[in-house]
Amino acid sequence: MKVALVGIGKIAVDQHVPAIAASPDWELAATVSRSGTVDGVQAFTDFATMLAQRPDIPVVSLCLPPQPRFPYAEAALKAGRHVMLEKPPGQTLAEVHALQALAHANGVSLFATWHSRMAHGVVGAKAWLAGRTVTRAHITWREDVYKWHPGQNWVFEPGGMGVFDPGINALSILTEILPAPVHLTAATLTFPENCQTPIAAALSFSGNVTADFDWRQTGPQTWDIEVDTDAGKLALRMGGNVLEVDGKAVAGENTIMGEYPALYARMAALVANGQCDVDLAPMVHVADAMTLGKRLYTDPFHF
Ligand code: NAP
Repeated sequence: MKVALVGIGKIAVDQHVPAIAASPDWELAATVSRSGTVDGVQAFTDFATMLAQRPDIPVVSLCLPPQPRFPYAEAALKAGRHVMLEKPPGQTLAEVHALQALAHANGVSLFATWHSRMAHGVVGAKAWLAGRTVTRAHITWREDVYKWHPGQNWVFEPGGMGVFDPGINALSILTEILPAPVHLTAATLTFPENCQTPIAAALSFSGNVTADFDWRQTGPQTWDIEVDTDAGKLALRMGGNVLEVDGKAVAGENTIMGEYPALYARMAALVANGQCDVDLAPMVHVADAMTLGKRLYTDPFHF
């Protein structure tokens, strides 16, 4: 199937382009970007022009930040194209509900991707937890914002979600693996005094579940989820890619490079079967944290 990639930025170059190139299902047929291109692929700078000139491309994958993404998704769905959304799927929940309705009305597939759910250890973690009772869980999601979002000022603008941009990856795993849902009960959000979104967040959920997100970590990142149950302890490390049970690695691979190939395989199946996959549970937790969170202020932040 032919796919057009829109927004040739960090994630498109790091993950989408190699995943498409390695897939038997997909051909990268066009790009749309104000400045980025991919060697050997027709490049457009205007989305409407691409949609008009390339009716042979049935699928559009949107790699833009969440703030400018909605009008692109809306135009693509109205033009009868299947759409893949980077995470988080929108700036707001209502925006994504509107896209779901449009996909339904136009009879096309909409996939709100959560790449971390495709991490190597997630399926095994979900299976291991099924039937057990969770007594405690803790997420530690700390990384260096300079490394993972170099110069990306949009993350600190309204709708950019700040530290929830990576933190929502942890929440996408949590909401997938827990045998029973939890809800946010309290949050403390730390904002640089010159920014619109938090650089750190501490969250508490029902069921003795807590999370610590921080973008001020230097050195290697920590992307861990630890879960205690009535019958043993589980940990997911490396963003969900390594599964440990009772302190021993039992499954997975210490790499994030399997996630996007799995997303594109899933999109191929959704299109083939005429289905949508839109789960907003991770984003509900972020919206609740922004609603309920106590706000602290810290030093100004500059890239
Ligand atoms: P990015 O490097 O800033 O790239 C975004 C792309 O979108 C660029 O091509 C950019 O501009 C285009 N763009 C930015 N603002 C735009 C606007 N107002 N109108 C039209 N186009 C605009 O961002 P990214 O890191 O790739 O992140 C994009 C999405 O991927 C986010 O939702 C993020 O959460 C997700 N993601 C990122 C990572 C990561 O490690 N960075 C990992 C997983 C998922 P040009 O048109 O100038 O090319």
